[in-house]
Amino acid sequence: MQDDQEFRREIRDWLAANVTDDLRGAGGAGRENEAFSRRLDFTRRLAAAGWSTLAWPVEHGGRGASLQRQVIFHEEYAKAGAPGRVDHIGITMVGPTLMQLGTDRQRERFLPGIATATELWCQGYSEPGAGSDLAAVTTRAELDGDHWVLTGQKVWTSLAHVADWCFVLARTAPIPEGASRHAGLSYLLVPMRQPGVTVRPIRQLTGDSEFNEVFFDGARTERDLVVGEPGQGWRVAMATLGFERGAATVGQQVGFQRDLDDLVALARRTGATADPAVRERLTRAWIDLTVLRAHTLRVLSAPPSAGTATVIKLLWSRWRQGLGELAMTILGPAGVASVTGDDGEADRWRRLFLFSRADTIYGGSNEIQRGILAERVLGLPRQDRR
Ligand SMILES: Cc1cc2nc3c(=O)[nH]c(=O)nc-3n(C[C@H](O)[C@H](O)[C@H](O)COP(=O)(O)OP(=O)(O)OC[C@H]3O[C@@H](n4cnc5c(N)ncnc54)[C@H](O)[C@@H]3O)c2cc1C
Repeated sequence: MQDDQEFRREIRDWLAANVTDDLRGAGGAGRENEAFSRRLDFTRRLAAAGWSTLAWPVEHGGRGASLQRQVIFHEEYAKAGAPGRVDHIGITMVGPTLMQLGTDRQRERFLPGIATATELWCQGYSEPGAGSDLAAVTTRAELDGDHWVLTGQKVWTSLAHVADWCFVLARTAPIPEGASRHAGLSYLLVPMRQPGVTVRPIRQLTGDSEFNEVFFDGARTERDLVVGEPGQGWRVAMATLGFERGAATVGQQVGFQRDLDDLVALARRTGATADPAVRERLTRAWIDLTVLRAHTLRVLSAPPSAGTATVIKLLWSRWRQGLGELAMTILGPAGVASVTGDDGEADRWRRLFLFSRADTIYGGSNEIQRGILAERVLGLPRQDRR
């Protein structure tokens, strides 16, 4: 049987042979449209070589890799500068949801397309009036014979412009008398390429458009493409969020280490290291990243305990924002020029600075996460949300 060192060599060799210069470092947060077709092609090769579904159970076509091996894979992936993948919403969110809560027919229909990155997915939860307060969604789906018919609007839908399918949280029944607003919601799998779906890109601070408004106006999906029971979609939607990160967090932190190393190099080149405040902030960034990595490895390898995964999100999001702010200090006036995409290194740091403003918003805003810690871990009285 292959040991972990051999496994590490295997993935390292595969990446060395497949991560060509035109792919290295492409894509990722804030740069999702960069070299998209080359990254899609790379993602499909990664899948064909059996790496994409490393963490999936063998019975669902994966390799059933241990957590240790998943960590090794993500570390090597990040170290090789392999490009941002385009299949993560399918692989880490909807795929595991279907394995746990879908029907056999749904698994047979969708898992192969997710595993091979031949069908890409997006997440249709947020709406103009429902973000943190997700149970307020007003998109409706009504049965018409063998189909659900959807009407409503989603917003901030990442990668909807390239997605083939969307998992949509929609209201399929009114709130029953005396029940919570979570009742009557359903989790529907909806094809994106049909006349009743309009995708409008939203221009971000970076100048790029990675997320979108999505309008459903008579969009249809088959009656069986509801995951879980109709009206019980809240539980399914929360299960999906629970799958979101996992071992990939370790790879993200390897990328953070590279960002920090590059920022130290920039500070040396520009002479910013003469400023004691810059030296202090760089050193603090290293300390905080060391603590974050240790905490993450501990959380991943221990039985789940309340709030520990939330702490990772709170720490990494603030860490990256801090790094972006420090990069702007080090760049000085070059940091405030417009984002043109043609001035190399400064453009990279400006994008990181600007995009990282979103880090404390998506995946559950930091205010909401702290509220959850306050109530569920510290046991503080529930906040009045009127
Ligand atoms: C880059 C990016 C990508 C995204 N991708 C997707 C996607 O693919 N699919 C999708 O469905 N959504 C996506 N989102 C949306 C994201 O989930 C929401 O932005 C998030 O849930 C916050 O909702 P909101 O923007 O409506 O803000 P609101 O909920 O209106 O919150 C506004 C502010 O008020 C604070 N706040 C709200 N309620 C409370 C409270 N009770 N206590 C304390 N503070 C509170 C929030 O923390 C926030 O600072 C994405 C967002 C971003 C930034």
